[in-house]
Order: sequence, then C-alpha cells, then structure tokens
Amino acid sequence: MSWRVLKFGGTSVGSPEALQAACGIVRRAAAETRVLVVVSALAGVTSRIARQLETALARDPSWRDPFRALRARHREQLQAVARGRPAVAAADALDRGLERLRDLLRAVELLGEATPRTRARVMAAGERLSAPIFAAALAADGEAAAPLDGTEALVARGSYDEAFPDVGASRPKLAARLATLGDVLPVVTGFFGADAAGDVRLFGRGGSDTSATAIGAAIGAARVEIWTDVDGVATADPRRDPAAELLPRLSYDEAFRLARGGAKVLHWKAVAPARAAEVPIVVRNTFRPEAAGTWIGPDAAGTS
Ligand code: ADP
Ligand code: ASP
Ligand code: MG
Repeated sequence: MSWRVLKFGGTSVGSPEALQAACGIVRRAAAETRVLVVVSALAGVTSRIARQLETALARDPSWRDPFRALRARHREQLQAVARGRPAVAAADALDRGLERLRDLLRAVELLGEATPRTRARVMAAGERLSAPIFAAALAADGEAAAPLDGTEALVARGSYDEAFPDVGASRPKLAARLATLGDVLPVVTGFFGADAAGDVRLFGRGGSDTSATAIGAAIGAARVEIWTDVDGVATADPRRDPAAELLPRLSYDEAFRLARGGAKVLHWKAVAPARAAEVPIVVRNTFRPEAAGTWIGPDAAGTS
C-alpha cells in the first residue's frame, strides 16, 4: 500500500480542539492508505524557546520563568486529548524533553555562550514535546501510533541552523526505522534531521514542511499534505491582503517562487525534494477540511 505524508503546523496542533481535528483528518486518511504524520511544535513554542535561549545567553536567570507555563500547556493538552487514558509514555516523554531543555539552557547560562550545535539542540525541543502528544491523541482514538525523532528519520547536510535534507541518504535509514514500527503509525518531529554524528541540524524556521516533503520523497509517498490554518496558497498573505486570491493549482516552479518570495505557508526548501521525486504537495486547511486546497505538481497552473 502506498504512503501519504500528512504534516500539521503549529496552529493545527496548538490547542486540544485543533489537535482533535487533526486526528480526525489522520484517521480518515489512515482508513484508505498508510499514513506518516509530521508535526510542528505547538504554536508559539519554538519562538518562546528561542527567546529563552537568548535570555540564558545573556546570563539572565529569568530564562527559567516560562518553564511552568510550557509544562502546564503541554500537560493540559496531553490530558485533554488522552481523554482519561493514562498516556504514561507521552507524559514521560514530556518530562524528559523539558528536563533536557532545562539542562541545556542551564549550561548555556553557566557558560554565557552556545555553539551552533547547542543552539540547534535547544531549538529542536518544541517538536520533541508535540510529537508524543499527537501520538497519544491518535492512540486514544484507537489508532496505534508512536513518536519518531527527526534525527532517526532524515539525514541533514549544511549548517546547524539552515541545513538541507539529503533524501538519498535518508531513504535506507528511514526504511529500516519504519520496518521496525510495522503497522504503527509514525508521528515524526518536523524541523530537523541528523548529521553523520547524529546531531540535530535544523532546516530553518518553518522547516517542518521540508521534513514532510523530504520524507515523502524518501518513501515514495503518493502525496504530501501540508495541513495549515489557511485554505491554501494565495496570491498574497490572506491575513494581510483582503484581495488575496486562492491558487488551486501551481507548478513546482511557481510554488518555489512564491515560497522563496516570502509566502511562509510553504517553506521554500520543501519544494525541491517533492519536485525531484515528482511527489505532489497539497496545501490544506485543518479548520476547513472541506476546502480543496492548493495542489502543487509538475504541471503549470490551469493545465493538468
Ligand atoms: P504552519 O504553522 O501551519 O506551518 P505558517 O504560519 O507557517 O503555518 O503558514 C501559514 C500562514 O502563512 C498563514 O496563516 C498565512 O498568514 C501565511 N501566508 C503568507 N503568505 C501566504 C500566501 N501567499 N498564501 C497563503 N498563506 C500565506
Ligand atoms: N517549529 C518550527 C518553527 O516554528 C518549525 C515549523 O513549525 O515548521 O519554525
Ligand atoms: Mg509553517
């Protein structure tokens, strides 16, 4: 059976209601085909962690202040979506992830410096908290699912903060890892892969889309769906320009130009892996799943 990769952005997992909607979308897809989920950090979390990092670097102990809220938000979300089930593995993963983040930031404060490698590890924390929650939400809905770290899924090359996925090198690694999961639905942390040493390399802010298309290319997915908070790719940012028009079909080149020009609905690095493997990308709205979205493929707009 062929694969479909479904990626959910920060707002699509940012509240229990949104996550519940996302789970419904995943379950409907999983009834038809094999599904792999790629997930972002909860909305606002990566930016908050970035600010904590800067505060720790300045040796300002107030980097600790957001921890209580960060822990509470993730725990509450887990509790809401687990609906009375214990979700012990996810609760442990949250505790471990927060503890690891605290250790890293403590070290940064102590030293008053952070190498690019350390910065990347800090920034990866948000996705490592959201993937266990998504997997627990699916499990509560009767869909066996497990979180999978981006470092186990993708090989990344380039700098620690602006790397690119290496699809060819990722293919055998991902195939081996997926084989161990059997029928369990993988929920992969977006935003980063691993270098040869196994260290985190980020694809850049907004890079979870790139994780999704790179994984889609590596497993030969039938398509990659980018589930977000707007109906699709438009001529301009619909939140800023009321005249923005939805674009139902785009070629890879057209999508690349829009993304590179700043349309953050699709991360610009996400286009190349999909184009190389000829995997279509469909951009859709988690909050309006009835909308058809934007289809991005080899053909120019309007032709098919
Ligand atoms: P996610 O968290 O799902 O990855 P992003 O915030 O990264 O979502 O991207 C979705 C946002 O991109 C939309 O809320 C919208 O405001 C913005 N955006 C910017 N340019 C465009 C465009 N041309 N078409 C659609 N959305 C756009
Ligand atoms: N969480 C990361 C960011 O906020 C990656 C993503 O959401 O795509 O940049
Ligand atoms: Mg995004």
